[in-house]
Amino acid sequence: CGIVGYIGKRNTQNVLIEGLKKLEYRGYDSAGIAVFTDKGLEIAKAKGRLANLETKLENAPLIGSVGIGHTRWATHGKPSDVNSHPHTDDSHKFSVVHNGIIENYLELKEELIAEGHTFVSETDTEVISHLIAREYEGDIVKAVQKAISHMRGAYALGVLTEYEPNKLVAVRQASPLIIGIGEGENFIGSDIPAILEYTRNVYILNDGEMAVLTQDAVELMTIEGNFISREMIRVDWDA
Ligand code: GLU
Repeated sequence: CGIVGYIGKRNTQNVLIEGLKKLEYRGYDSAGIAVFTDKGLEIAKAKGRLANLETKLENAPLIGSVGIGHTRWATHGKPSDVNSHPHTDDSHKFSVVHNGIIENYLELKEELIAEGHTFVSETDTEVISHLIAREYEGDIVKAVQKAISHMRGAYALGVLTEYEPNKLVAVRQASPLIIGIGEGENFIGSDIPAILEYTRNVYILNDGEMAVLTQDAVELMTIEGNFISREMIRVDWDA
């Protein structure tokens, strides 16, 4: 129900948790984050209030310079630790947060299971991480584009891979998503208040568009891969 993402030199875990707090009003039943740490892509998630996730992280903080976070409003699969986002694939090299519904997820899940993939959750979202892993041939942007060409439904996505830890990929199709532009850091969020503490410079994504964030740049393109130039919005109100 809410997405945040960060790439930059701040304490990533804190940026994600503070962002998720700002999205609390959207309602949720569980929360989680994925951070690229010196051990690789690490995920922490917990059913219930954000405080439950924070308690887990107090004992085992995730330290790194890129991460994604999610507050879930369950549509497919009950609220539980394992159904919470971020989701991953068999290799644990890919991580996805998703706001929305994948209408043809059952069909895709059956196809992926027949191909040898193992699913751990009951969510529609988990098919996305497996699809991206299947389509990956060394370029995460292309893999995401191929994966979503198989998907029907509504999705705002944040995607990370351990293979390209200097990149955060975001996609919007019928679920809200904005991009925050900083200096040496960039952000994604379901809405502006999630990132307003850090930057007032924002791109609004439209349906069928995606963004590739590094620490120093944001590229916008259509999901077919055509680059887009967009005017940055300067937010002059406070949350
Ligand atoms: N359909 C996904 C799920 O049930 C995402 C729900 C959401 O937008 O929070 O896990």
